[in-house]
Amino acid sequence: MQLLTEIARVRQFVGENRRQGKSIGFVPTMGYLHEGHLELMRQARRQCDVVIISIFVNPLQFGPSEDFNRYPRDLERDLKLAATVPVDAVFYPEAAEMYPPGYSTHVDVTGLTDCLCGRSRPGHFRGVATVVTKLFNIVQPDRAYFGQKDAQQVLVIRRLVEDLNLPLEIVTVPTVREADGLAMSSRNVYLSPPERAAAPVIYQSLLNARDAVRQGEKNVTRLEELVQRQISSAPGAQIDYCEIRALPNLERIQQISGPALLAVAVRFGQTRLIDNIVLEG
Ligand code: AMP
Repeated sequence: MQLLTEIARVRQFVGENRRQGKSIGFVPTMGYLHEGHLELMRQARRQCDVVIISIFVNPLQFGPSEDFNRYPRDLERDLKLAATVPVDAVFYPEAAEMYPPGYSTHVDVTGLTDCLCGRSRPGHFRGVATVVTKLFNIVQPDRAYFGQKDAQQVLVIRRLVEDLNLPLEIVTVPTVREADGLAMSSRNVYLSPPERAAAPVIYQSLLNARDAVRQGEKNVTRLEELVQRQISSAPGAQIDYCEIRALPNLERIQQISGPALLAVAVRFGQTRLIDNIVLEG
């Protein structure tokens, strides 16, 4: 497994493999790897000849009051985990390699980014779309793998790939969860023991909403209230948003009549967790 810190070295590595006719799978991450990340890598391993991951805590996608500085980082541990898949190369650039002095170009996906995490975290998706576009241009993969855990992010990236005619396939991988249902996230390490004990309420409330839909409840406001009531009853939980929107355009709806996304963001103390479930009309 190669550790590459320079863009030129990634291009060289990819070029050599391409000339041998090999397909390239790519998994972008911010590191502090867990089973969710590893599942993306395993799927890439099954579908592609060569697997490259990136580990880059992208400063552009964090707001000024967010957790960029304290975001968990552990390269040695990440390399050991990546080697178990195994992956062929890890791209681990410094911020100055990605954004040298004078850097001025950004990618904005409009519309889709006005709601949910886009509303709570202004500039977040601009940072995501920009870094992902750069990474796609650097790695030039045949397929890139993203988790359904960040549902709005996948929609934004699919939109960007279509709009900018990027020649790759986006693969979405289902959310990997802890035994008690909590979606795996690098940020789960921030949770205090009582917060960790309460956090599974998020997924339980999503499952309850899905059951309610299956039993005939199609009214979006009532479904959102059901989820809000259950989450608010958990000690320390503060809802950032809890919304049902149509897929794939994320438009507001009143009734569930086709595929819809129930997405939530919940704060426990300083920690903001997101999760979602797809509701079928
Ligand atoms: P991050 O390091 O948080 O930026 O995540 C990198 C990739 O892993 C993104 O495509 C995420 O959606 C995906 N991911 C993170 N957590 C999970 C999870 N629990 N299950 C599946 N994919 C995940």
